[in-house]
Amino acid sequence: SSFSTLPLNPAVLANLQQLGYHAMTPIQAASLPVALLGQDLIAQAQTGSGKTAAFALALLANLNPRRFAVQALVLCPTRELADQVTQEIRRLARAEENIKIVTLCGGVPMRMQNASLEHGAHIVVGTPGRIMDHLQRGTLNLDALNTLVLDEADRMLDMGFFDDIATVARQCPKERQTLLFSATYPQGIEKIARQFMREPRQIKV
Ligand code: AMP
Repeated sequence: SSFSTLPLNPAVLANLQQLGYHAMTPIQAASLPVALLGQDLIAQAQTGSGKTAAFALALLANLNPRRFAVQALVLCPTRELADQVTQEIRRLARAEENIKIVTLCGGVPMRMQNASLEHGAHIVVGTPGRIMDHLQRGTLNLDALNTLVLDEADRMLDMGFFDDIATVARQCPKERQTLLFSATYPQGIEKIARQFMREPRQIKV
């Protein structure tokens, strides 16, 4: 089905047309109507399914570009995925004014990332270890966050990131939307859902 059935603003819809996104992929059709209502979501989705746009359009809808604070955080298992996610959000965000996205992964000097954060970031995409580093040093503040995304959550759990995810989630406001994407459902996903999500809707396609 078409993106135009969704409550998205006309500039976003026009941009999707320009990008050649004419029909929603199955995961988008199942998750976007729920995510755009502000509900928490656990979506089972593989790479290549269009899952990035599914959460990106939801977090962009929750964003106020005139508010200069981090409003969305996407946690990814690897730097490669964080870079891909950043690129995809950039493409989807280009219809709107001045949305700043900062990628925070290891292997880049902290001071370069600090400079980017000081210039203002609406959206942060990164790996749990480096995000934790910034939180501990006080260079990243999540008080204004309204969307937390856990992308490829099963891979993050495999890599031993449960505690980091928990620490990050505890630093986010209670009043927020949490979107979790995972290819599989190991036990740890249930635990995240129970501890850090609010009556999540489960979506499988
Ligand atoms: P992902 O699963 O998020 O990595 O997306 C896989 C690829 O599909 C990316 O290159 C996206 O740009 C593209 N894509 C996502 N949604 C759509 C869509 N509705 N129509 C066409 N291409 C899409």
